[in-house]
Amino acid sequence: MDTAPSLDQLVLQARELFREQYGADARWTVAAPGRVNLIGEHTDYNDGYVCPMAIERYVVIAAGRAEGRDAGVRFFTALSQEETTLRPGEQETIDLPKWAVYPYGVLDLLRKRGMMLGAIDAVVVSTVPLGGGLSSSAALEVATATLAEAVSGQPLDGRDKARLCQMAENHYVGMPCGIMDQFSSALCSAGEAMRLDCRSLEIHPVPLADPAVSVLVTNSNVKHELTGSEYPTRRKQCEQAATALGVPMLRDATIELLEAKRDSMEDVIYRRARHIIGENQRVIDFSAAAAVGDWAKAGELMYASHAAMRDDFEISCPEIDALVEIARGIGPAGGVYGSRMTGGGFGGCTVTLVETAKVDAVVKRLLDEYRQQTGAEGAAFVTRPAGGAHAIK
Ligand code: ADP
Ligand code: MG
Repeated sequence: MDTAPSLDQLVLQARELFREQYGADARWTVAAPGRVNLIGEHTDYNDGYVCPMAIERYVVIAAGRAEGRDAGVRFFTALSQEETTLRPGEQETIDLPKWAVYPYGVLDLLRKRGMMLGAIDAVVVSTVPLGGGLSSSAALEVATATLAEAVSGQPLDGRDKARLCQMAENHYVGMPCGIMDQFSSALCSAGEAMRLDCRSLEIHPVPLADPAVSVLVTNSNVKHELTGSEYPTRRKQCEQAATALGVPMLRDATIELLEAKRDSMEDVIYRRARHIIGENQRVIDFSAAAAVGDWAKAGELMYASHAAMRDDFEISCPEIDALVEIARGIGPAGGVYGSRMTGGGFGGCTVTLVETAKVDAVVKRLLDEYRQQTGAEGAAFVTRPAGGAHAIK
């Protein structure tokens, strides 16, 4: 099992690193979790439904006032041991290291609203795997916004904060993501997943309190460098599909409407729409099944979601398909209810619902067979649903 420091340990690490870097005690420490999406992929930017939960993996920032220098937030990231000073409004993103554009976008959007932090020193530590579909980028953005709240003493409304972080990723990083990742990191509650209506931003809690069932995240440790170009393409294709169907967003279309218009649509556009329309329904059915502990049904919906991502939306890859097929092969008798890719696609992680008593055996088989089939080394961890971003006392 892939272990990571607990939140408490990570907080201590961040404070210790702050002391090493800046020779003083940190005044503020904040944490923002990554997330795993149980079902509902690429539906968020179609105004649809998603079902994420925050994971016990976090970005933690420890910070303090910097005396005797000009305003600006100096960030040191433990990950690459790099330091950079962000001066919102005074820099071009092109001149910054790529990782620093995420916090820069957040700080600059806050500056435009009049929230200025002055001279701050900060260190960033993290246990969210990068680029694995567990949303390290949103965790970094939301942690930055949470730091800004702590420093300024001005709390942001949670939904507003999530939107601001999404705007940072859309307009500064240039990734046209929907609202799910930032929303989960900011607003998830411990002990439950959420079904989020990405149009109204209404939350419907999905309790995952059954100790007999565990959420297993398996990292394929492969990332095909396609997400960057394919994601915006998918977004455009969904818009084309909505236009072809005469609806404002794919959220507003039904399978009956889609089938009626099939002959007038390009096949690829039809298939993209079929994934989204089906996936919205699967999220609703999944949350209903989870609410009554019907894990067999929930698992079936996960496999169906995966098949649609693979065949209709075409965002999977051979390594991820292998992990899902191995899980399916282990089956209910071996302790697996269902499995699917999670996140934007082309690699990253799968999420699997597993009978808690059989987790160790499932992990062993998954990783062994994955290695045999692909030559790649995976990593797996179990996580409970974590709480959203917050300042640490
Ligand atoms: P994901 O969100 O699925 O992890 P992304 O490609 O959206 O993948 O975001 C990953 C990027 O976020 C990294 O390449 C890096 O630039 C930035 N990032 C995330 N966490 C950190 C961190 N702790 N320190 C520095 N950069 C980070
Ligand atoms: Mg991301």
